Amino acid sequence: MQNTATPTHCPYCALQCGMNLTPTPDGTVEVSERADFPVNRGALCGKGRTAPAVLASDVRLTSPLVRSGGELVPASWDEALDRIAAGLRGTRAEHGPDAVGVFGGGGLTNEKAYTLGKFARVVLGTSQIDYNGRFCMSSAAAAGIKAFGLDRGLPFPLEDIPKSGCVILVGSNLAETMPPSLRFFNELRENGGTLIVIDPRRTKTAEQADLHLAPRPGTDLALALGLLHLVIAEGRVDADYVQERTTGWEDARAAAMAHWPEYVERITGVSVPELRETVRLFCEPESAMVLTARGPEQQSKGTDTVGAWINLCLATGRAGRPLSGYGCLTGQGNGQGGREHGQKADQLPGYRKLDDPAARRHVAEVWGVDPDALPGPGRSAYELLDALGTDIKSLLLMASNPVVSAPRAAHIEERITSLDFLAVCDVVLSETAALADVVLPVTQWAEETGTTTNLEGRVLLRRRAITPPEGIRSDLEVLHELAARLGVEKGFPTDPEEVFEELRRASAGGPADYSGITYRRLVEEDGVFWPCPGAAEAVDEGEDAALPDAPALEAPSAHPGTPRLFLDRFATPDGRARFVPVSHRAAAEEPDDEYPVLLTTGRVVAQYQSGAQTRRVAELNAAAPGPFVELHPRLAARLGAAEGDPVAVVSRRGRAVAPARITNAIRPDTVFMPFHWPGEGRANTLTNPALDPTSRMPEFKACAVRLEAVRP
Ligand code: SF4
Repeated sequence: MQNTATPTHCPYCALQCGMNLTPTPDGTVEVSERADFPVNRGALCGKGRTAPAVLASDVRLTSPLVRSGGELVPASWDEALDRIAAGLRGTRAEHGPDAVGVFGGGGLTNEKAYTLGKFARVVLGTSQIDYNGRFCMSSAAAAGIKAFGLDRGLPFPLEDIPKSGCVILVGSNLAETMPPSLRFFNELRENGGTLIVIDPRRTKTAEQADLHLAPRPGTDLALALGLLHLVIAEGRVDADYVQERTTGWEDARAAAMAHWPEYVERITGVSVPELRETVRLFCEPESAMVLTARGPEQQSKGTDTVGAWINLCLATGRAGRPLSGYGCLTGQGNGQGGREHGQKADQLPGYRKLDDPAARRHVAEVWGVDPDALPGPGRSAYELLDALGTDIKSLLLMASNPVVSAPRAAHIEERITSLDFLAVCDVVLSETAALADVVLPVTQWAEETGTTTNLEGRVLLRRRAITPPEGIRSDLEVLHELAARLGVEKGFPTDPEEVFEELRRASAGGPADYSGITYRRLVEEDGVFWPCPGAAEAVDEGEDAALPDAPALEAPSAHPGTPRLFLDRFATPDGRARFVPVSHRAAAEEPDDEYPVLLTTGRVVAQYQSGAQTRRVAELNAAAPGPFVELHPRLAARLGAAEGDPVAVVSRRGRAVAPARITNAIRPDTVFMPFHWPGEGRANTLTNPALDPTSRMPEFKACAVRLEAVRP
């Protein structure tokens, strides 16, 4: 492997910061600044800087493990792969294809997500595939599709933010989740724009804001409706825009008018003057944006909540106009691409609907299979996990750690242990991998090439910088080997570029059209925004290509990609955005006498997701060694708890114990726990799996709990 720096991207969050990797003599890589990538201009957070530590970690898996006599013991690749094939085949033979489940992750590259979806549907013939991104941004995706006909996290590049007049950031603590992005918001303020942050906690992000609103958890929907009510009452509706570019206004208007500011104040705790000031700051500039993240999305009414914020943008003429609009700040590294290429229960590659006959025909032709043989939509992530051990007997899991990250996690852990067979691909022995019958050690970001799509819809090439350690294989190799063992010899290439060429064909003409993007373009242009229709050069299908009848790509094209969406028309049949009438409803679980406090969960800067990787990095662990319960001094006094005292948080689903962190930066009726840790302090032991009816998103952000002092 060369000793020069390889330009690539961070393995963690959806910002996909650019970085250079230089191989070191000990076989790992050194991270250095890459100032030319416009998203982060060289800046990295601690997670990105320390990412190589996982490569060289002494807890890294370097051999397949199989369960023997109750223990996981090292095994050869052949033995491990044979065991997985036998496990999946046995379940299918005994209980049918839908008794085999597949669970993916938003950290998988586009190539892996695509291949995993194809593997589930073509090799296993199961409809039961979904992924952990369902827990991330699915409500925003559902609301975006309803309103605009298309979901792309941000419909504009991050570089538009500083030039806007006002940004309302709803439920995003990006100072901790993606720190380099904060500079866009700082520049916004330096340029005279306004930043409004909506969060029940006075987070590090809220501290930067011109105005911080702290609603009760689970009431963002009412808040957005109250703002729209005031927009109407104060005569701030952009009537020409509403007339020309939208449909459904009257119903949305009527719903908003039922939410009087005083009523909204009672529900949310945000005062009427604060609501009025927000409307003034949002409506007065020529341009303005609303950006949501997990706060409003991870609710049992997340789709309606995001819909209400979109309605606000539409009524004020913001969406589809320069430096304006609605966007979602996707969380996971490939949270955007991961939802576009077929590992979602209801979707096919190119962001096509699985139940659309034309989409099935197109993708089946690319895959060389009968469209009628493709399974239909399956269960969503939580429902799939909840069915383990009952309807679903065997599971193949990649890039996910639901024992820590799923809601009602103790129940999900129990479901996982009741499986007949579990196979996990991971880089370390995560809490979920530790329960498996077979664990396969797989390559990491610096050891493999593949594409991701960041939160802006910018498709990027992550490049291999070093050779993986002996004994480790890529997820693509694993799927190739398993397909062969299950009787499908062709169609599962191990070369990422070959997979991408097939993905281009499969996505051609779909909502997320990648057909004009090639690896060469990604290198030369440092990313291309989808949709990018039309194709570049013809595809070399190679000897192993299993797609003789695949639709041919068009002649070379120089489509530039689409950094900004909706400026002329929305992606609906009539080109107009759709208002969706929504009304306030309470969280699925409101506080009562037995559980009088609200719990909300989130992240800290030094850990990522379930912590499977970052908890194994000494520097990050030192910075954030464990969970905590953040609570207001009044609650702490009532409990008799001092800073650092263990506090038990009890919900209808279980009990978690963690040290108290007492602060005025949180509402007195709310406690906060980060969710990165397993064990006694596992926040997701407590969370409520009540699902949004459209997106099937669980309600991570609001549930009722009580606090108990823990006496030594
Ligand atoms: Fe990596 Fe996200 Fe940190 Fe950037 S902000 S270095 S992408 S974890």
